[in-house]
Amino acid sequence: SKTIFDMFEASCQACADKALFERPGQSSISYQEAMVQARQLASVLKDLGVKPGDRVAAQVDKSVEAILLYLACLQTGGVFLPLNTAYTGTEIDYFLNDAEPRLFVCTLASFDEHSKRATSSMAVESLGSDADGTLMALAAKAQPLTEVMARSSEDAAAILYTSGTTGRSKGAILTHGNLASNCESLIDAWRFESTDRLIHALPIFHTHGLFVACNMALATGATMIFLTRFDVDELIDLMGSSTVLMGVPTFYTRLLKSSRLTHEATQGMRLFTAGSAPLSAEEHATFQERTGHAILERYGMTETCMITSNPYDGERRPGAVGMPLPGVEVRIADRESGAALPQGEIGAIEVRGPNVFLGYWRMPEKTASEFRDDRFFITGDLGLIDADGYLRIVGRDKDLVISGGYNVYPKEVESLIDELPEVVESAVIGVAHPDLGEGVTAVVVVRPGMSLDATQIKEALSDKLARYKQPKQVFVVEELPRNVMGKVQKNELRVRYADIYK
Ligand code: ATP
Ligand code: MG
Repeated sequence: SKTIFDMFEASCQACADKALFERPGQSSISYQEAMVQARQLASVLKDLGVKPGDRVAAQVDKSVEAILLYLACLQTGGVFLPLNTAYTGTEIDYFLNDAEPRLFVCTLASFDEHSKRATSSMAVESLGSDADGTLMALAAKAQPLTEVMARSSEDAAAILYTSGTTGRSKGAILTHGNLASNCESLIDAWRFESTDRLIHALPIFHTHGLFVACNMALATGATMIFLTRFDVDELIDLMGSSTVLMGVPTFYTRLLKSSRLTHEATQGMRLFTAGSAPLSAEEHATFQERTGHAILERYGMTETCMITSNPYDGERRPGAVGMPLPGVEVRIADRESGAALPQGEIGAIEVRGPNVFLGYWRMPEKTASEFRDDRFFITGDLGLIDADGYLRIVGRDKDLVISGGYNVYPKEVESLIDELPEVVESAVIGVAHPDLGEGVTAVVVVRPGMSLDATQIKEALSDKLARYKQPKQVFVVEELPRNVMGKVQKNELRVRYADIYK
């Protein structure tokens, strides 16, 4: 069956001289050039002893060469394992012990420290952001490898660690079949074509930036405007000569703060997508007013690639994540029994299809417990399917608040708080409470220059929510803690407020 590497080869045939990567202020890299360098890197992997199934871990800054290393893994059967650049010291020890890579590629700055870790079973090389370091020095001397290792759709292509929002990150094993099938579905769903020019400003150690964004471009012969950081003005400048932006909600929050974001500035763009964290219905509406574009929100996770998407044609419904991609099945099930629930009820979101991963790396019990007997994967998210078939996420299972024996879905309370004109955003969490088990607790960000205190927020909710859903305590803060993907870190909030009802 076709792999992402096969699709990339086809793009090279059709678009050899076209730019695959454009970098403002730096040279572009054509499909042909990328292919030659990827094949040189493939030779290096082979020389370093990387066999099919061996892990190639990379903790490097975002660069074109990091993507070429990913392609070299696909070619040789090495399993690409990118690591978040924020991890340090003991965290890296954990990931390297867990993954047991044949090769670990680190940054130039950390090479002195990490080269000491090299053993007879793990080589360590460096990769800098200017195509410098030991890895590219080896590649420059290598012959491009012609052989492409045959891979079946069940073979592992990559291990990606989850974001660690709810606990320790887990390594999700993604197969060639997972990546290829999801990529083809998204290309169809979003009408992605070789003429597209994609603004790529996401990190590349996560499914969004690596698989959704890069795979789609590589597979179609499109051009990526490859940015190593997110800068509002630079993005707005680039919109004049680009067609698609794939973003996390915080991109849009930040873009909306600029008065330069207008209909004119976004006129040449055909698509803005959002995912990895919830996009507020309010920001969806504001973005449409300001630009005329309805952001297309989709839903996915490391373990499953993309699951649902709002339609390209048809209504892109604010606050909803759309319908299952072709070939993907989604059901809403009872949290305990896994029995399917009637349409419209809130329950566990479960998914089955060619997009669903093989399992967690070296966690057989965890893997087994997240699948139902009929192979549906329990996402850990709660949601409902509305009357028109749109999936709505109401929060994570682990964030569900159980107060006095009643279920409180944070999203319901957050949405009402967010409707207050003075409020930017909010997070509702459960905090240990002596009588209720958990007390509903709201953490709220108020617009700069406006005033709204805890008592006023509580009052505003008093006739809108059943008593058991009303926050027992409300805290007004400057900002919510977020990670690089723009995910609110509720774990951190639960720790911060752990003692308030004691
Ligand atoms: P961990 O599994 O380690 O706790 P994580 O779940 O945040 O971390 P990811 O795989 O990066 O790790 O994120 C997937 C999750 O992101 C989904 O399960 C869902 O909760 C959330 N998510 C993704 N897209 C959306 C979206 N459009 N709206 C709301 N939530 C989303
Ligand atoms: Mg998760």
